[in-house]
Amino acid sequence: MNRTRNARRGQSRLLPFLIALALVALVLLGMLLLRGGKTPDPSDAGAQTGTAARTEPAAPAQSGAATEPAGSDPEMPAGSAETPAAPTETVPPTEPPADESWKLVLVNKDHPLPEGFTVELKELRNGQHVDARIYPELQQMFDDARAAGIYPFINESFRSAERQQQILDKYIAGYEAQGMSHAAAEEKALTLVAVPGTSEHQLGLALDLIAEYGESAAVWSWLRENCQRYGFILRYPADKEAITGISYEPWHFRYVGAAAAGEIMERGLCLEEYLAERQP
Ligand SMILES: [Zn+2]
Repeated sequence: MNRTRNARRGQSRLLPFLIALALVALVLLGMLLLRGGKTPDPSDAGAQTGTAARTEPAAPAQSGAATEPAGSDPEMPAGSAETPAAPTETVPPTEPPADESWKLVLVNKDHPLPEGFTVELKELRNGQHVDARIYPELQQMFDDARAAGIYPFINESFRSAERQQQILDKYIAGYEAQGMSHAAAEEKALTLVAVPGTSEHQLGLALDLIAEYGESAAVWSWLRENCQRYGFILRYPADKEAITGISYEPWHFRYVGAAAAGEIMERGLCLEEYLAERQP
């Protein structure tokens, strides 16, 4: 009993002291909170608006930078997805209706070479060149001729405009050397040599053929009989000089493709007549 009385007395003495202590602590804490709340505020706001101002432009810059690769990214896969798809899609439709108009291009005094004309050439063993597309049939024609004991030789095939001009100049110089005036020499040369841009040789489809051995006449007669089987025609026949404007050239053959060649040779036409018939 005594022990509990003593304990109660001790508690009653301590209590006011503890309450005073707690009040002091509360006041100190309140002062600290007020100070601490006020001082960070302005500096924080400044820092916040500062960083906000910095991060805001940074954000559009980032999103701008993000849209740029994003913008090009879809293009790249789309482009790279299209390019592999395009060949497989376009090749089958373009192959069947192949443009064969190149076989029937007319080149003469009135029909110069098409503007910007180019041709993919195939070099032959003797250094001559032809349109690469006629090579397989040309080779077949030579193989069959040789099998028949005929040995054709390509004396002249593709000519550039520069080469055509050189040939014309050589003819003119030759006539001038014989005492002709330049005008007369040029006039005479132009009856035998085409003006650059109007020679069929510039197409890569014309061949001047002679015999590799023996008489060229045997080669020419075999070719007149057989050339159409390989897509070639005798381009300047003796009886068509008035139409072609070129004197008879038994050596000059022109590729037009097997279909046209068959009709032209069987009906005894020249290319100008054949093309005139086909015009609408
Ligand atoms: Zn020729």
